[in-house]
Amino acid sequence: MQNKIGSQAFVNKTLNENNLHAKKKFGQNFLTDQNILNQIVEASDLDRDTAVIEIGPGLGSLTERLCENAGFVLAYEIDTQLIPILHKNLARFTNYEVVNEDILKVDINKDISEKLGKFKKIHLVANLPYYITTPIILNLLSQTKKIQKYIMMMQLEVCDRICGKPKTKDYNALSVVIQYRAMAKKVCKVPRSVFIPQPNVDSAVVKLQLYEVAKYKAKDEQFFFEFIRECFTQRRKTLINNLSNKYDKNKVLQILKEINLNPAIRSEELTIEQFIYIADRLK
Ligand code: SAM
Repeated sequence: MQNKIGSQAFVNKTLNENNLHAKKKFGQNFLTDQNILNQIVEASDLDRDTAVIEIGPGLGSLTERLCENAGFVLAYEIDTQLIPILHKNLARFTNYEVVNEDILKVDINKDISEKLGKFKKIHLVANLPYYITTPIILNLLSQTKKIQKYIMMMQLEVCDRICGKPKTKDYNALSVVIQYRAMAKKVCKVPRSVFIPQPNVDSAVVKLQLYEVAKYKAKDEQFFFEFIRECFTQRRKTLINNLSNKYDKNKVLQILKEINLNPAIRSEELTIEQFIYIADRLK
């Protein structure tokens, strides 16, 4: 039991036997806690009719659990050295494929059609490499509508931003852009001590459930997302000061008046509906 995939003993032994060190440049922090693995799997709502896309399978700790519980696992791993180790650790399964590619360079819709065509339910499950958490999520959300749920381990601070509500310190552009498309919920907090090597920050698991029927609809989504970035350029500034670099100040003031907002309001006080109203009117 001590050497079960995902235990401390297993991770240390596998790295030693293969003369490997966790690579910082790939954000490698291997999970060693069975209880956290269980919580991730439970939050992932898996069954044999569901395919999983995993990013960064590493040594296969989470992948093993996903193969046990899902119909198929399509895993993207950038580190070529880990590929033979993964195949060895997953030898008892036939319902997986490891693709040795950078997830940021993948044509995900093409891969889903070609490799997961028979699955209607597709969930993304990952212990993400922290150095590219935000680009991975934003890329996938903008590229594809075929993934219904995202269950992801990430830095606690990023999780709090993603789940942030208006009028709190955590609410920022990332909260708005993600909550525009999905219901975001923190599943659990994860202490740094359960990883090898131990990162400098604590982590958390986030669950995003995409709206089947859009909850919010901006007239021009590209314009809306750019507008949101402008709104939060400088946190200390008022909304109007952030926006007046790019948009006509008087027009913004007039729009704020239309929805009874104080001209000195800060971006973190606005709801998603209010942002959409302003963006639509500016467009
Ligand atoms: N899933 C394993 C676990 O939980 O122990 C490893 C998680 S580790 C935090 C992140 C993994 O993502 C590593 O295996 C790393 O090599 C991989 N990775 C890093 N950048 C990647 C990228 N751009 N595309 C695909 N995989 C990547």
